Amino acid sequence: SSRFIGITTAPPDAILGLTEAFAADTNPQKMNLSVGVYKDASGQTPVLKCVKAAEKWLVENEKTKGYLPIDGQADYRRHVRNLIFGDCVESDRVSVVQTPGGTGALRVAAGFLNSQLAPIRVWISTPTWANHNAVFTSEHVPQEAYRYLADDKKSFDLDGMIDDLTNNTRPGDAVLLHACCHNPTGVDPTAEQWDQIASVVAEKRLLPIIDFAYQGFGNGLAEDTVAVRAILKVCDEAIVCSSFSKNFGLYSERVGAISILSGDAEMAGAVQSQLKTLVRSNYSNPPRHGAAVVATILDDADLTQMWHDELTEMRTRIKRLRQQFVETMKKTGKGHDFGFLLDQNGMFSFSGLNKMQVDELKNKHSIYIVGSGRINVAGMSEDRMDQLCAAIADVIE
Ligand code: PLP
Repeated sequence: SSRFIGITTAPPDAILGLTEAFAADTNPQKMNLSVGVYKDASGQTPVLKCVKAAEKWLVENEKTKGYLPIDGQADYRRHVRNLIFGDCVESDRVSVVQTPGGTGALRVAAGFLNSQLAPIRVWISTPTWANHNAVFTSEHVPQEAYRYLADDKKSFDLDGMIDDLTNNTRPGDAVLLHACCHNPTGVDPTAEQWDQIASVVAEKRLLPIIDFAYQGFGNGLAEDTVAVRAILKVCDEAIVCSSFSKNFGLYSERVGAISILSGDAEMAGAVQSQLKTLVRSNYSNPPRHGAAVVATILDDADLTQMWHDELTEMRTRIKRLRQQFVETMKKTGKGHDFGFLLDQNGMFSFSGLNKMQVDELKNKHSIYIVGSGRINVAGMSEDRMDQLCAAIADVIE
């Protein structure tokens, strides 16, 4: 008999499962607002012009496809350090390792906790991106939950978060923070609130792990470092897991990095060596192409300007869609005020729709959003806003 006979089927990924259902839906009016990718006015997830230009240059000039170093391409790593840390900290205290996307960075971070800092627990916001739990579970890191979204499902529960971090953590625990554009809620702390959070993190000697997947999608590249800056002001050790999937539109090229800030250069060297050990036995070394594209763009002033402009265009389009959605919902006359969406940042928003309403949206209107009520605002379209809002008004009667 087969040794695989006892293997049961794993549950499908909740969000990617919706994409499959969407693909099978024959309604020509269908709309997919579940997956976290940006779409332009024509409904496409485009290759940025700066990326195309860099790829053209690379096709003509790239000399080899030989392996990269275990920790990645040096100039790419330098650009990551500049974008995230600027001149906040001495650069020789930061170990940067190029990773396959932000998920790869989180997985290396979890491996680092497990191999170097165990026993250690990680505190994760309620709610959070579902893969956070899965990644830390894979590396056997125990998890605890801190309060984040208030009971109204619209606003930030600062008191709850501070209370949990102050009274329920143990010194030495890690805490996972979303730098900006919180996924799935879109609800971010203000600069003053970040200072309050950072001071608790420092006082309790918690190790901050900052997930920075949406730099430039909130208020701007520099503006979105608000959480990083607040933490670095008071903590001398921190981990940042960053991704260029969204802000360069390089989703499938798997471009990210883990950056670890240590107390001094000597510790940073030891940390870098341990990160390399983790990578070597996992995927050996990172993919070249996406990081080469990013480095090519950031090495060139014109391409960098082009990137800034294209990123600004994506960010302002999302803000415009938020506004149009709120105004169009108002016009449906259903008296439901979605004005709170205007205070939220990034691709996602919690709509406040419950599971039944989400199901009805799918079954009756072929509009797909995540079961929690999370809407991908970046997937909305100006042309079809009336259709979307009429459907939502119908299910919230
Ligand atoms: N962290 C958060 C909160 C995310 O939403 C995502 C992507 O959806 C990631 C990390 C990782 O992105 P990727 O691995 O595609 O770079």
